[in-house]
Amino acid sequence: MRLQPVLLLLLPCASRALPGGESETALAAVEKRAEELSALNRTIWTAAEVGLVETKSSAALAQFLSRNGFAVRAGVAGMPTAFVAEAGSGKPVIGILAEFDALPGMSQKALPRREPLESGAPGHACGHSLFGVASAAAAVAAREALGGGPGTIRLYGTPAEETGIGKLYMAREGLFEDCDAVLTWHARDRSASDFFSTKAVVSAKFRFRGRAAHASASPAEGRSALDAVELMNVGANYMREHVPEDARIHYVITDGGGQPNVVPPAAEVWYYVRADSFAEVERLFARLLDVARGAALMTGTEASHEVESECHEVLVNRPLAERIHANLTRVGPPAFSEEERTFARQSQSDLGGSFEKSLADSIEPLPADPGKMKSSTDVGEVSWRVPVGALQVACYTFGAPGHSWQVVACGGMTIGEKGMLVAAKTLALTAVDLVRDPALREAARQDFVRRRGSSPLRSLVPEGRKAPKAIR
Ligand SMILES: [Zn+2]
Repeated sequence: MRLQPVLLLLLPCASRALPGGESETALAAVEKRAEELSALNRTIWTAAEVGLVETKSSAALAQFLSRNGFAVRAGVAGMPTAFVAEAGSGKPVIGILAEFDALPGMSQKALPRREPLESGAPGHACGHSLFGVASAAAAVAAREALGGGPGTIRLYGTPAEETGIGKLYMAREGLFEDCDAVLTWHARDRSASDFFSTKAVVSAKFRFRGRAAHASASPAEGRSALDAVELMNVGANYMREHVPEDARIHYVITDGGGQPNVVPPAAEVWYYVRADSFAEVERLFARLLDVARGAALMTGTEASHEVESECHEVLVNRPLAERIHANLTRVGPPAFSEEERTFARQSQSDLGGSFEKSLADSIEPLPADPGKMKSSTDVGEVSWRVPVGALQVACYTFGAPGHSWQVVACGGMTIGEKGMLVAAKTLALTAVDLVRDPALREAARQDFVRRRGSSPLRSLVPEGRKAPKAIR
């Protein structure tokens, strides 16, 4: 959506200098901690903990914030690794999101070739070790730059992003309600103000109950829950032809029974349903419930389902995107060395295709209209409650997909950490801007209200449902 020219005139000038050298203080506050931030990243990168059990990673970030004058509330929203760290007081309240969960089976050394650190172990294939550290550093730097002045900087330690759990349950507890704006970022293969929406998603587990029996001696007595799972999947796969093009339906069978000579009395299949809007996800999910009912009817079993998490599509925010673009331009993209370029070039060898560069060393222009990513994030849940501004910074091999070993490798060495410092500085400048510039906050709020509309936020997760204790 394009801004009206008159609104453009009302927006604060993107290059407006902060008073009293605050921006220099913020930049220096990150730079002087560069070694400490690298060590913190290596701790989280090596620990590589998956969602809801990120004990060491969460504690390392909370301790860093606590050492730097932040009051930490750990274990919020019923999740031991979720925390809120706050410094300063009163309005405005500016939030910064930090993620720190790793992905199962993605262990990888910081080398330009595929080589696990520990075979089968998790790894930071989404760059969340860098994410957590840069966000915490930005919070500390912003608070340092603001001195004792009014305004609150709040860092949200958000676990289990990879299954869309952390921010959803934190948001449902109302933890974002008093924020004037929230900032976030993500490691990518290029640097840009992140003016992208995402797909909405719902995650649900379908369980079938049948009747056990000897599969050979008395099959007529059995009712197979696994049959129901298989027929549900057949139904969903036929449904695929008759869904909008933006829809995505994927599943894994998480319980298919014990062994072949027992008719499985219980079985479970885990589905994600995605589309460009949450409204479309709701429509598709209602049809999938019918498919599950049909499978139960055909097999003489009983179906039930549990919606564990959901993410709305991200609502972009133009004024925040413009300010982030201006601040990223001021900080500049990561300056990679020849050695780092060689590392990245070697790591491109198993990607297929040819690449015009090994690492992105420029800043992408800010597009006039928001782009659309085909993935989902629980940042969407925050963005429907308060204005959210987002950033992406080149932290790994150009052309490498997310969730690849190249992302893990670069995140455990200087390539990722250079990007991490750029992110920390850009977010710190933007947080200080948001505290000092009421016109920016107001422009962000107006843009949020216009895109958000006034209808109540819808949810497929039952009222009162608590965060799960584990991913599976
Ligand atoms: Zn991620």
